[in-house]
Amino acid sequence: MSRIKGRDAGQVVSGRLIECCPVGCSDTLAETTIVLPEGPLRRCQACGQLVSQITATAYASSMKEFDTPRGTLPTLRTQRRHDARAAKLFGMVNTLIRSESGTGVRLLDIGCSSGALLRSAMMHGFDAEGVEPAAQAAEFAKSTGLKVFHGYLEAARFPESSFDAVTLMEVIEHLPDPSVLLREVGRILKPNGVLVVGTGNGASWTVRLVGARWGYFQVAEHGGHISFFNPLSLAILAQRCGFDVERSETRRVSLAERKEAGYLSYRLLRVATEVLAMPARMFGKGHDMLVFLRKRPI
Ligand SMILES: [Zn+2]
Repeated sequence: MSRIKGRDAGQVVSGRLIECCPVGCSDTLAETTIVLPEGPLRRCQACGQLVSQITATAYASSMKEFDTPRGTLPTLRTQRRHDARAAKLFGMVNTLIRSESGTGVRLLDIGCSSGALLRSAMMHGFDAEGVEPAAQAAEFAKSTGLKVFHGYLEAARFPESSFDAVTLMEVIEHLPDPSVLLREVGRILKPNGVLVVGTGNGASWTVRLVGARWGYFQVAEHGGHISFFNPLSLAILAQRCGFDVERSETRRVSLAERKEAGYLSYRLLRVATEVLAMPARMFGKGHDMLVFLRKRPI
């Protein structure tokens, strides 16, 4: 591991972007057997959070892929899955804030990219707007009539208690210190407001079975993925930032990527994947994690 000089005289710091558990634990990070091009992932001994050994420079350059006009728009093939997932997500948000249709409910989608989820929120009756730091994706979303702030959440300076609900989908795994963002979300949410966090599950059966080959771990495929939560670590972070867990669920297991297997073995693996899906969901071992949090009353 290369080492660079720190700012203070005599202080030497590592070149790694993440040196301590992003959840806020003081326990050490131990190397795992999940070996990526940046080095083995490290695991917090207290909460099980997995973190990358990527450098700040490599992290910054891996993030550039997000700045495209298309952003994360679903393809024709994935549109139906997107719609079904959005309907379930917004149905649950409505249940938690006890609104029948979402009408009049103010929702903010942080990291809204080109606006796919934002558009779904509006179709479900929410008064929705977004925040997106990637310029081209934000411009595309705005060009389709969506209300989007280009920049980071803190720069938007939303007034205190502005929103009933906030969605944070596939964002938190990009952040070296997620507590800064969660505390700002707590400030702009109304009392008892709901925060939905979607991210990968680093304690899933997919990780157990596929290990370092899981695409989600690869910054070459998913730029900026550096910090991998599990149901426990996300719950601890939420508690530390003023939220209570209302509901936590996981789904889906992968045994292999299509490109890794021949046609027949891929079909067989797909069958095995289907068989594992239900127990994975029951035991919190799926690799897609969706957590509904509520801002704790002060
Ligand atoms: Zn930890």
